[in-house]
Amino acid sequence: MRRKIVAGNWKMNGSKDLSEKLVGYIRSEAGSLDSGVEVVVIPPAIYIGDVLRQAQDTVAVGVQNVGQWQSGAYTGEVSSEMAKDVGCRYALVGHSERRQLFGETDELVAEKVSRVVSGGLTAIVCVGETLEERESAQAEIVVASQVRTGLSTVVQGEWKNVVVAYEPVWAIGTGKTATSDDAQAMHAVIRHVLKDMGAPAEEISLLYGGSVKADNAAALFAQPDIDGGLIGGASLVAKDFVSICRDFPANT
Ligand code: PEP
Repeated sequence: MRRKIVAGNWKMNGSKDLSEKLVGYIRSEAGSLDSGVEVVVIPPAIYIGDVLRQAQDTVAVGVQNVGQWQSGAYTGEVSSEMAKDVGCRYALVGHSERRQLFGETDELVAEKVSRVVSGGLTAIVCVGETLEERESAQAEIVVASQVRTGLSTVVQGEWKNVVVAYEPVWAIGTGKTATSDDAQAMHAVIRHVLKDMGAPAEEISLLYGGSVKADNAAALFAQPDIDGGLIGGASLVAKDFVSICRDFPANT
């Protein structure tokens, strides 16, 4: 059975105080959540220690970005080995903000994915089309190509450390969400591409991201190929985030 995952990407938001209050609240509610749902908090790297202390193993912790190197003269970078060393279990790779603001290409994503998964962290690999690409009927082609190239370095035995997040760029932080039918259709395409690549596609969790809120998560999570969500803005509001974590259909 595939892992159900709700991951909260705080982006460049937060503080020691927020880490304490938000993660403290999630921890206090963790016992009442479906034990089959993995809750992941992905704070700015500087707060990972605070979040890990608060989480006390009830919540998994991830890093928002890693360098493609193990160590060395790369001022400002953090490696996936370091993230694993301090207790992270997940790393985001290829978020659209990294692609758009920091020039990350699919080839760089592939390098980072290789380092993350071979080191034993789970990579949450983000893919998604822009509005222009969707409007010109290129969405499936773009996303399929991001999956093929971004995951081209994964070898047999490492797929268990891969999660793919479909995040249409036009839906991130905009309040616009893909309809659950459109999201499902793209998730089915991604699963098909993974199968074609020789991956154990039925075992790989696929998350949807893009303005997921407490009031639209249930419809998205009810889709057969959507195994959870990557949540930005709503992950900073404790009650909303926990409510999203409860939005899976009962018998899955
Ligand atoms: C994200 O940053 O990955 C994201 C999906 O953001 P939001 O939920 O705010 O659209």
